[in-house]
Amino acid sequence: MAPSPPHVAVVAFPFSSHAAVLLSFARALAAAAPAGTALSFLTTADSAAQLRKAGGIPGNLRFVEVADGVPPPSSSGKMPMLTPPRRMELFMAAAEAGGIRDGLDAACASAGGARVSCVVGDAFVWMAAEAASAAGAPWVPIWTAASCALLAHLRTEALRDDFGDQAASRADEPLTAHAGLGGYRVRDLPDGLVSGDFNYVISLLLHRLAQRVPKHATAVALNTFPGLDPPDLAAALAAELPNCLPLGPYHLLPGAESAAATDETPSDPHGCIAWLDRHPARSVAYVSFGTVASPRPDELRELAAGLEASGAPFLWSLREESWPLLPEGFMERAAGLVVPWAPQVGVLRHASVGAFVTHAGWASVMEGVSSGVPMACRPFFGDQTMNARSVASVWGFGTAFDGPMTRGGVADAVSTLLSGEEGERMRAKAQELQAMVGEAFQPDGGCRRNFDEFVKIVCRV
Ligand code: UDP
Repeated sequence: MAPSPPHVAVVAFPFSSHAAVLLSFARALAAAAPAGTALSFLTTADSAAQLRKAGGIPGNLRFVEVADGVPPPSSSGKMPMLTPPRRMELFMAAAEAGGIRDGLDAACASAGGARVSCVVGDAFVWMAAEAASAAGAPWVPIWTAASCALLAHLRTEALRDDFGDQAASRADEPLTAHAGLGGYRVRDLPDGLVSGDFNYVISLLLHRLAQRVPKHATAVALNTFPGLDPPDLAAALAAELPNCLPLGPYHLLPGAESAAATDETPSDPHGCIAWLDRHPARSVAYVSFGTVASPRPDELRELAAGLEASGAPFLWSLREESWPLLPEGFMERAAGLVVPWAPQVGVLRHASVGAFVTHAGWASVMEGVSSGVPMACRPFFGDQTMNARSVASVWGFGTAFDGPMTRGGVADAVSTLLSGEEGERMRAKAQELQAMVGEAFQPDGGCRRNFDEFVKIVCRV
């Protein structure tokens, strides 16, 4: 009897930019999987609704709801007010208490009883390892952040042993005693690793996944391309995870980008690309801090004043709730366009964009690199500090603010990147990496070969 076709369950972490990244990865998987493969995308009802709104759902991908852990409304019908970290805690608790296992059962039922043959998923949802094992399926986690951050998390115990309660007094010490991490200082490590709250939901989640990935993962997708990570870092990571497959930036995988622009979900509702078309090559600074980070009001005003002082045209993606915080008359006076959302990948690819002011979230860094745009990084939390260090010091295709942005600092950074000699060098470095990305995604390039291998592993029955 012929074996039944594969049934791959893709488990998302339903917060911040994570679910959208997983969906774009799933689109690539849907395009590459053998005919007849069933694909189930496990996420919460809220997250599924948001992803559906954005469109671009492949026909062979089925959404399967998993519990969000949010208590039902009170008898008066009132929904509980929950902060984002509390929502994450509730989701993680529900996932650990059987939410992912139940999701796999539901996936099987909705695919006409086809058992799940492989569980692929955001590494953050570490409990998928146990759920996969209970279902007799391999677990193949997808790491969405940088390799340096993964290596640091895998070394949590050794780093905590080394720095104990001295992380603050040794903040500037390089991590030379930890193979592969010598380019970083103690202060660059993500919050909650050697300092901060070890019991914060994200710190706990990262610690637990770091304990499970080396033991339980059949393979691990890395969001990097061969040659980006320094050789000692790549070697240290490969020693911890011999089965890792660098195949990022994930948005460049064939089929990953959504072709979903419709009247209901236009890809550029605020006219960013048309506005960029009216500007000369490399003249515009693009500003965005991703989906979560937000400068405090005083810093936001410094940034606005710095952009104005630079005299450069700018495109600023800024959530609408912050608009009232901008200086009086800024919108009318400034040579810029402020929008609540920009099609960032297309913006960074546009010839008129010459600088990127970013929070150094990993997807943003990879999108900037693959377009050859130098960056000024203002990291806020999590792995952003390590990413900013990578950009400014390990690779040297940008600068990093040492703390909150000031108007002078912003004006200097923007002018340097757009027209300074140092900026030219940074752009050359960014373009060198852009060329490497281009090569890695040629049909016989490293990332394409690794993705073929990934598809073979997850579609094995
Ligand atoms: N993004 C976008 N338009 C915006 C702001 C953000 O398309 O106006 C996308 C961006 O392209 C990236 C993601 O949102 O893919 C942000 O991810 P990142 O890892 O950089 O930061 P996070 O939001 O996770 O902090």
